[in-house]
Amino acid sequence: MSGAELDKIAGWLRNARRVTVLTGAGISTESGIPDFRGPNGVWTKNPAAEKTATLQYYMSDPEVRRHAWQNRINSGMWNAEPNAAHRALVELERKGRLHTLVTQNIDGLHQTAGQSPEIVVEIHGNVREAKCMACDWRGPMQETLDRVRAGEGDPGCLHCGGILKSATISFGENLVAADLHRSQLEAGRADVFVAIGTSLAVYPAAGLPEIALRNGSRLIILNAEQTPFDPMADVVVRDKLGDVLPALVALV
Ligand code: NAD
Repeated sequence: MSGAELDKIAGWLRNARRVTVLTGAGISTESGIPDFRGPNGVWTKNPAAEKTATLQYYMSDPEVRRHAWQNRINSGMWNAEPNAAHRALVELERKGRLHTLVTQNIDGLHQTAGQSPEIVVEIHGNVREAKCMACDWRGPMQETLDRVRAGEGDPGCLHCGGILKSATISFGENLVAADLHRSQLEAGRADVFVAIGTSLAVYPAAGLPEIALRNGSRLIILNAEQTPFDPMADVVVRDKLGDVLPALVALV
């Protein structure tokens, strides 16, 4: 990406009334958390892994749940640190140029980096909590993981015996209506919408740039690989996010 092009994008951000950012798994790969569909993605390497993230299989097959709990205790997410791209978005907020950050990520790294929780919408939930699929119980994930470490393969809810899962949105599971509504509202209010590290393949999150465009917003895409929205974007940047985002935000 040329300096002149970065300058142009920085100018759009400087002059925007409202900036909405959508992030995906690609912003966390430099923190050591693999994405799903990139070249080293979890599903690219092991398509069967998709089952553990699909509600229907999770709810109907104890073997899938045992597998999912083992993945959770061994997940690199617990030790991951935010990277330069997460920190650049914190700086963008500090400069008053980031109003809403919708993330598809469940790793919590935006907040760990220092982003204000009030501006972050975790549209796919988060891994910090476990939830019961039968009653309203929610609790810290680490407490349930301790039960798995102590030998329970598929821990049940201590209140009602229901199936436990991470408080993330699986495939086939409804999004939290209020989060979806807020995301769509902020996509529609934006005059600059930035999609970062997402293949824009998963709806309804992938519908957000569509809403932004329909309402006359500019669309900036920062992603290493092609997305279905590239032809509609005002600019597409393929550089590594940990390099390009700090460079861009420094110019804003
Ligand atoms: P995706 O895996 O579909 O796409 C990620 C994109 O990021 C890819 O196109 C890849 O080329 C790009 N990318 C990866 N590293 C990059 C880098 N360093 N610089 C520039 N581009 C880079 O991810 P998605 O669109 O977010 O959708 C997948 C779903 O997976 C989401 O629903 C999300 O909830 C979930 N997920 C989350 C995490 C996480 O929380 N970190 C990790 C894996 C999957």
